[in-house]
Amino acid sequence: MAQHIVILGGGTGGTLVANRLRRQHRHDSLEITVVDQDDRHVYQPGLLFVPFGLTHSEDIVRPRQRQLFDGITFRRTAVDHVDIDAHEVHLADGGCLRYDILVVATGAVLVPEETEGLTGPGWMERVFTFYTPEGASALGGALATFDGGRIVVNVVDMPIKCPVAPLEFCFLADWYLRERGIRDRTTLTYVTPLDGAFTKPVASGQLGGMLEERGIELVTEFNTGEVDGAAGRLVSYDGREVPFDLGVVIPLHGGAPYVHRSPGLGDELGFVPTDEHTLQSKASPDVFVIGDASNVAASKAGSVTHFEGETLVANIERHLVGEPLEAGFDGHANCFIETGFHKAMLIDFNYDTEPLPGHYPSAVGLPLLKESRLNHLGKLMFQWFYWHSLLPGRDIPGIHGDMPTSGKHPVSTAPEKES
Ligand SMILES: Cc1cc2nc3c(=O)[nH]c(=O)nc-3n(C[C@H](O)[C@H](O)[C@H](O)COP(=O)(O)OP(=O)(O)OC[C@H]3O[C@@H](n4cnc5c(N)ncnc54)[C@H](O)[C@@H]3O)c2cc1C
Repeated sequence: MAQHIVILGGGTGGTLVANRLRRQHRHDSLEITVVDQDDRHVYQPGLLFVPFGLTHSEDIVRPRQRQLFDGITFRRTAVDHVDIDAHEVHLADGGCLRYDILVVATGAVLVPEETEGLTGPGWMERVFTFYTPEGASALGGALATFDGGRIVVNVVDMPIKCPVAPLEFCFLADWYLRERGIRDRTTLTYVTPLDGAFTKPVASGQLGGMLEERGIELVTEFNTGEVDGAAGRLVSYDGREVPFDLGVVIPLHGGAPYVHRSPGLGDELGFVPTDEHTLQSKASPDVFVIGDASNVAASKAGSVTHFEGETLVANIERHLVGEPLEAGFDGHANCFIETGFHKAMLIDFNYDTEPLPGHYPSAVGLPLLKESRLNHLGKLMFQWFYWHSLLPGRDIPGIHGDMPTSGKHPVSTAPEKES
């Protein structure tokens, strides 16, 4: 009898895992079901470009079901809860799926309503987020009529998806405002709960320097307690205030709400405790986790989700035949950072190694921790790879799950600038 793999979430992780498994296993040995609440697969890295008119929300969305190979069942409904002991997923449409193996791939959700005032007066009029297609489009409208003043970009708290995206927004905003000739009458401020521009020291120093060069003010260790859209101010828990005319806020993130309704599955934020190397959940040996839904200490990024896929699929296959799992995932993350003016940086790191200068994926490759046009082209081309290689679960030439070490220089090598 075929074993049944149920995959919760048909985003980046759920789609690539389903397709990899479908390619490798006969239909009569493995039944695969993907559950998602909607049929709109968003290429989320594209959201960054929407506010600046460089792409449109409708150009980065495709039907979810069409990204899944034939022989994968798609159930379009929300997950209500998981009963781990009974090996059952209860669906919002009243259905129930029994599984042999469950893959949790429901990502992270935005919870703006958890910050006082954020969704109150001024929300989507003066205060926006570009983390949703609707928010990114609305912000684009507001930027187009913006004629100078104070723009504030605020990360309410970590963890967030793609921790470099708010910095990229600042760099692109600086470029956009210069192109429009209104940069000299606009202050741009980046407000973060971190003690620097980024989490990892070498990259944080580099990115902090780039903010300074562009005249973007950096406010650190700011724990946002309230966003007052009517008066135009951020207020921190320790009473500091940052005024704005246009607020760009990255709201708090949590796991999908059904996780809280599934006894034993998640932590207090709704993320699923997961072994950081095997990707098996701590809740049950028959539950695996991929992508933003897990609590592992890797970035919440599509690249991480992609790299996890290799280990996750191999470990599901081992688990199905009773073999021991491999501690194969090293926390590998790889992010292009758009810096405006048709350039981007690239950072590559894992659980143990912070982003270092050099080249990726080997001594001949894309420059690391350095702005270049080549990296910008890499970022633009990635959308094609996303739909045509990453989601179908095909290997991308030269790109592997493990973080490469060749081509990287020790930290003491000061990164130079490329003109
Ligand atoms: C603005 C922005 C820029 C980004 N830029 C980059 C980048 O440059 N590089 C990079 O690597 N990553 C980037 N990311 C992050 C990347 O998009 C995510 O990390 C990645 O998509 C995570 O994949 P996932 O499968 O875990 O979650 P998702 O792809 O978000 O999929 C989760 C799925 O679960 C479904 N779901 C949730 N709850 C339920 C439920 N109760 N019932 C049924 N279905 C449910 C959702 O509908 C969704 O389809 C960016 C993200 C954003 C927001």
